[in-house]
Amino acid sequence: MKHKRKKKLGILLRFISSPLLLTYLVITIVINNIFDGFLSSIGLILLAFTLYLFTPLIKFGKRNRYIYSVKKRLENNLNIKRRMIYRGPIEDLETTVSGSAGFGIIVLSQDLIRIYNEKPLIIDFFLGHELSHYKFNDIKSQRKYRKLMKNSDDLMEKNKATISHIITEIRADITSALINKFSIKEYNDTLSMAHLLNEGDSWKEQDSKFSYDRGYPSRKERIKYPLRCIKLRNYNLLNKDRIDNFVIKPLIVNFCRVKRVNQSDISILVDYAIQDFWKVPVAKDILVY
Ligand SMILES: [Zn+2]
Repeated sequence: MKHKRKKKLGILLRFISSPLLLTYLVITIVINNIFDGFLSSIGLILLAFTLYLFTPLIKFGKRNRYIYSVKKRLENNLNIKRRMIYRGPIEDLETTVSGSAGFGIIVLSQDLIRIYNEKPLIIDFFLGHELSHYKFNDIKSQRKYRKLMKNSDDLMEKNKATISHIITEIRADITSALINKFSIKEYNDTLSMAHLLNEGDSWKEQDSKFSYDRGYPSRKERIKYPLRCIKLRNYNLLNKDRIDNFVIKPLIVNFCRVKRVNQSDISILVDYAIQDFWKVPVAKDILVY
């Protein structure tokens, strides 16, 4: 707990010392003075902060050029429209490295952007993951699944919505692993490091229920199954059948075990998940051409 508070303070300090944020602060103070100080000091800080978060990441600087070159490569790979990249919203103060997609933009957390010097491949992974969501049209359906996960009274319907959400996530992970052409070691190191940065050492012990309840595969599964696909791809053995049997089936069987799903419903949910995974026709073209 203490460690976390210290970490948060560190992140906050780095935030405040950002030259761009300071520039915005100076500009807002000057404008505020010209207009006779209509904003309180808290209003000033909030305005500067909002401007800062909603300024697209620009390409100048080695780090940002790297982020844009990865983005361009992946967009060409997936054959999708160019996206803008922004800095992470305020809640990312807590989540360290992550990305999100929606409204036609990509948001990378502050810490994900900073990670460039040590682990540039984490940027490749998260950009690949978020752009895959665009390619597969996941953004809108994920919103629908989350609503059902939260509000549905029907257990079967709730489980199906959760599985659908989990499927969009594991599919984005696998797609990112493959289109980035990660080696086994690169993928393993990159994901382990991302989990370590987000959760500390505890990620290895984290139980799957915690992740499933949020509509995510467990952190271990997010490493295991994409790695399995990389291995199969390396031997030219990756096809739909193997993804069905060596990825989707064991993932959903474990989900059913953890969620104590009735024995008779397991095969129904496995079939449902397989349908869901391949529902987007382009998935086949990208993953098993
Ligand atoms: Zn995702």
